[in-house]
Amino acid sequence: MVLSGPSESSIMSTPNVKPKTHSRPAPGSGVLDFIAIGLGPFNLSLACLAEPIRDLRGLFLERNEDFDWHPGMLIDDTTLQNPFLADLVSLADPKSPFSFLNYCKQEGKLYAYYIRERFYLSRAEYNRYCKWAIRQLSSIAFGSLVESVEYVECDGGEGHYAVRGRHVRTGAPFVHRAARLVIGVGSVPQLPSCCEEAREHCIHSAHYVARKRELQKKRSIAVIGSGQSAAEIFYDLLKESDEHDYALTWITRSPRFFQMENTKLTLEMISPDYIDYFYNLPDSVREGIIARQDSLYKGVNASLINQIYDLLDDRRSRASHPARLITNSELTGCHYDSNEARFQLRFVQRDEGVQYTHATDGAIFATGYGQNVPGFIDGIRERIRWDDKGRYRLSRNYAIDVNECDIFVQNAGLYSHGLTNPDLGMSCYRNSCILRELTGVEHYKIERRIALQDFSVPDTDAFVKAPLETQ
Ligand SMILES: Cc1cc2nc3c(=O)[nH]c(=O)nc-3n(C[C@H](O)[C@H](O)[C@H](O)COP(=O)(O)OP(=O)(O)OC[C@H]3O[C@@H](n4cnc5c(N)ncnc54)[C@H](O)[C@@H]3O)c2cc1C
Repeated sequence: MVLSGPSESSIMSTPNVKPKTHSRPAPGSGVLDFIAIGLGPFNLSLACLAEPIRDLRGLFLERNEDFDWHPGMLIDDTTLQNPFLADLVSLADPKSPFSFLNYCKQEGKLYAYYIRERFYLSRAEYNRYCKWAIRQLSSIAFGSLVESVEYVECDGGEGHYAVRGRHVRTGAPFVHRAARLVIGVGSVPQLPSCCEEAREHCIHSAHYVARKRELQKKRSIAVIGSGQSAAEIFYDLLKESDEHDYALTWITRSPRFFQMENTKLTLEMISPDYIDYFYNLPDSVREGIIARQDSLYKGVNASLINQIYDLLDDRRSRASHPARLITNSELTGCHYDSNEARFQLRFVQRDEGVQYTHATDGAIFATGYGQNVPGFIDGIRERIRWDDKGRYRLSRNYAIDVNECDIFVQNAGLYSHGLTNPDLGMSCYRNSCILRELTGVEHYKIERRIALQDFSVPDTDAFVKAPLETQ
């Protein structure tokens, strides 16, 4: 595919997309079209979708020596929360050679997959699929830690970004140059603020697999949190508690161990339609909506809740290793007594108006992830738009720079683009948009409307809008 200038029709038909003023760097100038930093599933999807675009010169820099998708949570028998169509490419280009189905075909697994009739991939299989895709890409530099980025002004022409870092194995420095950036560095494990003092003893769910054996040597283990990760860890530890003889306690701040909502009309919120609706709301309204959407992306899938219940019931019937489950309890204190090698955890039960402490030998904190604003962008802070909470202010096209066409981000727009932000199912949509911005051409058809419902008041004569009367 040969690149041409921006197609006016594709730009005009998408809301909030400004015509580009950016031209592409001249071949031979040593300046690439783009550099993508970080290689999680989102930038990997971008790499696969960019690969067939002839003349598009991109480079993907990843600090790790190999791809591994959340290795600390690669627990046996865990699956993705999305059907296999949410692979790296299919929702943008079902004919892509990087599709999950092509992976199955090439690896001789297609019939087994067909006969199995399980459309939710195991996490381990998804990881293998991503590694397979990577083996066919030439644009990835593993072991490349990005440490700083600066903008270099050029006389009489457009400037570029100089991306500096070092090769992790050798320590040798590198510098690469590109007209644009795509930052896909993921999020960072988060502990409650009260854990600060005991931080070195706290194990976050992101490191569960590596620390599991150490945890299982304890006489008591507390699992804190009640999202999917917490539930998977609790279930994994519960299954093996008979062999290890530990007491298990699962404690959450939530009022119940709630199910992740996945009925079809709710799933329609993971759509371009909902992004448009959400993006155009005022900041304060968006904040309020996100605060009320916990059950859409923070709960536990229903089948796992059922498996946990059945196992607990079985344990109770056999009077073996009962576990305790406690809701409504907010962690407010975390002290680690090094002499006793025990945690003293303090909780508040707000409904009952009491606080209590719980002593436990081991604790695992499945307390989520926070936005990762990497230190390497310090040199280009001025070029980035920020909101009043110190988060990136994203344009509708996923750009964060003041010109709205230079620096793009993956998975950093919860408060601008809504709950679609971390979802693997929207990766192809976002990358189709980013590629259109990078090339000026809509290489992959971008769906504008897929939902059966209206999120905004419909724009027809049957619905007459008027401003809200002040009460
Ligand atoms: C356990 C778990 C399971 C999940 N399951 C699902 C699911 O089933 N479905 C779903 O829709 N979502 C799921 N998610 C949410 C989300 O899709 C994933 O977190 C996804 O991995 C996010 O991808 P990413 O590309 O943003 O970041 P990451 O996967 O975190 O990758 C970021 C990469 O950037 C690299 N990096 C960071 N800094 C630098 C630097 N300075 N230089 C070079 N490289 C750098 C890191 O090494 C890392 O490899 C899950 C999340 C978790 C934690």
